[in-house]
Amino acid sequence: MSSILVAGSLNMDVVNRVSEFPVPGETITGRGTAYHPGGKGANQAVAAVRSGSTVTMAGAVGLDANGQTLVESLKNSGIRTNGIIKNEALTGMAFITVNDSGENTIVLSPGSNGAFAPDDIREEIIQEADIVLLQNEIPWITNFAIMKRSVAYGSKVIYNPAPAHRVDPTVLSWIDTLILNETEAAVTTGLNIGNHQEAELAADQLITQGVKNVIITLGGNGSYYASHSGESLHMPSFKVEAVDTTAAGDTFIGAYASALHSGQSRLVALRFATAAAAIAVTRHGAQHSVPHKYEIETFLE
Ligand code: ATP
Repeated sequence: MSSILVAGSLNMDVVNRVSEFPVPGETITGRGTAYHPGGKGANQAVAAVRSGSTVTMAGAVGLDANGQTLVESLKNSGIRTNGIIKNEALTGMAFITVNDSGENTIVLSPGSNGAFAPDDIREEIIQEADIVLLQNEIPWITNFAIMKRSVAYGSKVIYNPAPAHRVDPTVLSWIDTLILNETEAAVTTGLNIGNHQEAELAADQLITQGVKNVIITLGGNGSYYASHSGESLHMPSFKVEAVDTTAAGDTFIGAYASALHSGQSRLVALRFATAAAAIAVTRHGAQHSVPHKYEIETFLE
């Protein structure tokens, strides 16, 4: 069956609310703790399945209770979890502290994600995908191997180099769509990105280096799209009352992949992704805020 493969991270987000961040050496009492399924890979998989695609997740969790919970939660979202392996490390965790001003600090503990190796993903899982979605929360060698094999099978690779680190130039010509936010685009190209004119320069550089399509997301300023065919545009964001932009990028990417997978044109996919992300920022949370296809379609009517 035709599907999207998301190979990436699964994390348990442990969110602590505090009035003010503690200073080094200080102990403070928090306002409460919450556990939320997260990880860029899992968030993008949830966005793609809610946008209407058949989605397989590949990645790694530990043998602990968090691992079990994360896999169950993806299964409950309708994601095929047969690409998720269990390894000896602890399931990935993100320790997030949010203060009363809404600022946050995050300590990421990659655990099992950091031990997800190229041989941990079965050939048929890659082979059956038409679109393969990757981020930077699993080891680079694993991403590299999956990209190489996906391209050999004729799948489209969508790559979101987040958290930011320089993209190995070898893979640029393997990528169908490179999706980056301003920080990731700056790290990847060495250029400052503050507006869509600067995004245009960065995208042109990446297209010249071999990427087929580049999307640079610009937060509330929308996104800039450029293609090797010469097509380009600035897609403004939809004007909404934003309350929490967590996972706006992940929602955008999963929705874009899904629209492309269903045969939509790039521009229709971009508009669909922009609408999905606009809905997500009007809601609190990460996976919790990701809209379903009918909500996106209603928004666009
Ligand atoms: P995050 O790390 O929070 O998931 P990101 O930095 O990867 O986000 P952004 O560039 O902030 O990604 O946002 C992705 C897309 O979400 C934007 O291109 C835009 O379409 C939409 N978006 C973000 N912020 C807003 C906003 N305030 N109002 C409407 N749409 C928004």
